[in-house]
Amino acid sequence: MSTINRPVRTRFAPSPTGYLHVGGARTALYCWAFARHHKGQFILRVEDTDLERSTPEAVKAILDGMAWLGLNPDEGPFYQMQRMDRYRAVIDDMLAKGLAYRCYCSPAELDAMREQQRAAGLKPRYDGRWRPENVAKKGLVPPEGVKPVIRFKNPTDGAVSWEDGVKGRITISNEELDDLIIARGDGTPTYNFCVVVDDVEMQISHVIRGDDHINNTPRQINIIRALGAQVPEYAHLPMIHGPDGEKLSKRHGAVSVMQYDDHGYLPEALLNYLARLGWSHGDDEIFSMDQFIDWFGLDHCSKSAAQFDFEKLKWLNNHYLRQLSGEQLARRVTIRMKEEGFVEGCGPDLAAVCELLKDRANTLEELAEAASMFYVEATPDPAALAEKLHGTVPDALRDLASRLPEVFDAKQASVITKEVLLAHGLKMPQLAMALRLILLGRTETPSIDQVLVVLGKRRVVQQIERMLV
Ligand code: GLU
Repeated sequence: MSTINRPVRTRFAPSPTGYLHVGGARTALYCWAFARHHKGQFILRVEDTDLERSTPEAVKAILDGMAWLGLNPDEGPFYQMQRMDRYRAVIDDMLAKGLAYRCYCSPAELDAMREQQRAAGLKPRYDGRWRPENVAKKGLVPPEGVKPVIRFKNPTDGAVSWEDGVKGRITISNEELDDLIIARGDGTPTYNFCVVVDDVEMQISHVIRGDDHINNTPRQINIIRALGAQVPEYAHLPMIHGPDGEKLSKRHGAVSVMQYDDHGYLPEALLNYLARLGWSHGDDEIFSMDQFIDWFGLDHCSKSAAQFDFEKLKWLNNHYLRQLSGEQLARRVTIRMKEEGFVEGCGPDLAAVCELLKDRANTLEELAEAASMFYVEATPDPAALAEKLHGTVPDALRDLASRLPEVFDAKQASVITKEVLLAHGLKMPQLAMALRLILLGRTETPSIDQVLVVLGKRRVVQQIERMLV
């Protein structure tokens, strides 16, 4: 790893064409943590120049996702569409300095050029026919009515080499690179060029991004060098794969950050998960963002693709859910439950219900679903209930109802239940199964003592009377 000789400034530069993908979120997280670790700045730049694919909704989805995760930029969001004048000014300057030139090749001419190269067994590439030296040599005259593209004069010999923060040294021969188009015929700057101008002008010290951009890097470095600017350090993160080893996509499950919010994941769980996905600190699996910032460095990023493990994310989410109090959880599930007909102030205390259920819930969605059984009238399957109400069970249930005091805790409930079992010659499961069906309409519930406490005497008595008529 090279030493850092300038203020650390990282950027996350999403193209707003859909939603904030978990892969993008991981890149953003690493850029953010790297900047925080080095007491630097984290910049958000929206690369919205692809007018056909960029939408305001997609911009909002990215901003919402970043805000939900708490990855707040120190600068930005900057929008490339608002910086067109800057790109044009740099292009004019490059033309004036002979770093770039106008190319008048028509699409048909380029096709023919590639065809010939292929036929000769060569790699198709622009042959530099409008480079100023060739124009002078051949006395080329710009054709009438053709709007030229602008090409960067890429060096023709030597190689571009950089020490990638994740992948190690990468060297690409300039022979592999042709003269990149930096502005189209209509004058609009191209993607790679805008990235370069922004990285230079925003004084980005470290470009941390997905390794799908590795091919752009030598071209970008050449342009930055031509501009006489300082080249940032580059670090390319391997892709994220699904459990089957293919690139992670919708086919595997949720890939949009906000979908995780919808399904009741906590941002701290997703952050912790993404932090660990492609980076490690020994065997540590659970850590706070402060801890992550402290530990984070590119040297511990994995060189190979990471595999997204939905089960592990659930496990982490369960861990973070359990850290929250019943009150905190109740606040987070109220809206979900209202959608299912829950009315605040009716039924048992939601915080107590959440406290009771949180160990077994992996997501807020699961918690809300489980909690709702406390707020709807239990409607057990009559046949299943009849089967449980055998022998002395009905009498025992009535006895239990009469023995419960107005106010009691789980310990008292346990003592009373045991007395009832003894008095009626029953075993715990015989009474508990019937009670579960009567009180909550299902046989899988938290411990019956706690269920009795949360529901309270009135509701327990009502339910027993209603079911035993
Ligand atoms: N806009 C690019 C993307 O969303 C990222 C470019 C970069 O990080 O250099 O893939």
